[in-house]
Amino acid sequence: MAKNTKKKGVIRRIASDVTGRDRAVFAGLIVIIGIAKLCLSIAPRLSGRITDALAASAETGDFDTGYIASRCVLLAFLFLIGYGVDGVVNRSMVRISQKLAKKLRNRAQQKLNHVTMGFLDTHPVGDTLSRVTNDMVSMSNSLESTASNLIGQLILVVGLIIMMLVTNYKLALIYLIVLPLGFSLTALVVKTTNKLFRQQNQTMGDLNALVSDSYSNHMLIKAYGCEEEKTGDFKSKNKRFYDTYVKSRFLSGFVIPLSVMVNNVAYVCLCIIGGIMLLNKKLTLGEFQAFIFFGNMIGSPLSSLSSSMNNIQTGLTAAERVYELIDEEEEPAENPSQKIVPENVKGEVTFSHVKFGYLADKQLMNDVSFTASPGQTMAIVGPSGAGKTTLINLLMRFYEIWDGKILVDGIPADEVLKSELRSTFGMVLQDTWIFDGTVADNIGYGKKGATREEIIKAARMVQCDSFIEKLPDGYDTRISEENSALSAGEKQLIAIARAVISDPKILILDEATSQVDTKTEALITQAMERMMEGRTSFIIAHRLYTIRNADKIIFMVDGDIKEVGSHEELLAKRGLYAAMYNSGTSMG
Ligand code: ADP
Repeated sequence: MAKNTKKKGVIRRIASDVTGRDRAVFAGLIVIIGIAKLCLSIAPRLSGRITDALAASAETGDFDTGYIASRCVLLAFLFLIGYGVDGVVNRSMVRISQKLAKKLRNRAQQKLNHVTMGFLDTHPVGDTLSRVTNDMVSMSNSLESTASNLIGQLILVVGLIIMMLVTNYKLALIYLIVLPLGFSLTALVVKTTNKLFRQQNQTMGDLNALVSDSYSNHMLIKAYGCEEEKTGDFKSKNKRFYDTYVKSRFLSGFVIPLSVMVNNVAYVCLCIIGGIMLLNKKLTLGEFQAFIFFGNMIGSPLSSLSSSMNNIQTGLTAAERVYELIDEEEEPAENPSQKIVPENVKGEVTFSHVKFGYLADKQLMNDVSFTASPGQTMAIVGPSGAGKTTLINLLMRFYEIWDGKILVDGIPADEVLKSELRSTFGMVLQDTWIFDGTVADNIGYGKKGATREEIIKAARMVQCDSFIEKLPDGYDTRISEENSALSAGEKQLIAIARAVISDPKILILDEATSQVDTKTEALITQAMERMMEGRTSFIIAHRLYTIRNADKIIFMVDGDIKEVGSHEELLAKRGLYAAMYNSGTSMG
């Protein structure tokens, strides 16, 4: 029930998204399909009339050429319309459905730019990707071919049944009894095969995931000697795919013979009963012939009706998944006129009694307060899972705080336009955010419309110009996250150059824990130090050197700040930080 209501809701959504001219065209197409199918359902009766006229002529010897010729022309005309419109309908349906898919794809893309961080935390990338690609295609295909077919088949079946009843209701009863039986049988087979098709698709998805996982984790698999296990896993999934494929093909092979068989049963009944009626003069030769014609015509729409219905179901399920994505909650829209645009930010940051949790029932930060004065370097330190990244996430307003205030230069962060707020920060994280593009694109991303000179200047300042110039196409070399031509340290330097070019007032740095060679590390340290000059900086710090040189250390445990102060102050305090420092435990 709930499922049906959901499907109805989806149909309504699709109907409301096919707008303007397309909606009128779709309505027109339905009318055209209706007319075409009605023409087809009239044709057998008309051909029966021609047969009767010919039989009468043979009996009387009076051949009514005009009548017969005019009926033949009319018959040809009915067939022309009946079958001829298919091409036009298909073309228009492709246009309408692809336009809808294009519109929904754009909407999905826009949605992905505006979803909350919570969405990204809870939705696997693969699933979202498959909604935007596979489900979208499945939905538009189903709308494109099946929707018009289904409507056409339904109209044709109803039209043929009406014409049968009008021609001879007793003979029509044969079809009214035998055909539903056949329809139910094929529907049963189609239902079972569809279940198998779904399993088949699922298994194919699993196989794909396994291959891509093995590919991207090639080294990991080798290092831990998991080749056998992975191969075994693949073999069992591959076998499942083989089994479901063979079974589904075997069963679907029955659909056509089954409907032909049922049609033939109806045909035999028709011949016997119709023959007797013909001999008893209860039926004309033309009516008898018309029924044979009806029987031939009704068989194929009936056998494809059940598969069309199933295809529609698949399309609607896909559409449901697409709309689920489109309906995802967005970050609340901001009203630019009510928001403050801070000018000449000095870089004072204050957290005042901030409370926060990622999950509604799990509070992480209970009461976080501190102030960073303009130009100060703040090292955020604490064991893994202490909430260091969370502090940065809140500062950038990736997540909204539950209570308390975050102030930048005394202005509450939630009263500033998010884009303005974020533009005052420069971020360099451990995972360096290299995207697929040229080196120049990757650096220039930090500032809209950055010129080549500015990009080179930023690279020089970070001292990454020398390695960039050695790349095959210099600044125009294409790089990406997976590109192994760049070392982790080099990627980090590019990310720093990007932050430099944006000239932020406040810096957020996540010190890399991964090994970089000493020369690159020295370059990174120099670049970071130079960048931090005159800027308020928050560093998720792991290296003792950075921590000791920071103006203030924010020492966090279990989401809250336990101690704040300089290295010397905290050591003198002999608290948690001092204990951790003296024990030589890792700082993060
Ligand atoms: P740190 O950076 O100090 O290692 P984090 O700030 O990443 O710690 O995490 C603090 C706590 O919040 C951890 O217990 C972590 O499991 C949890 N956490 C982090 N990110 C999320 C998230 N997106 N959704 C739910 N919990 C999260």
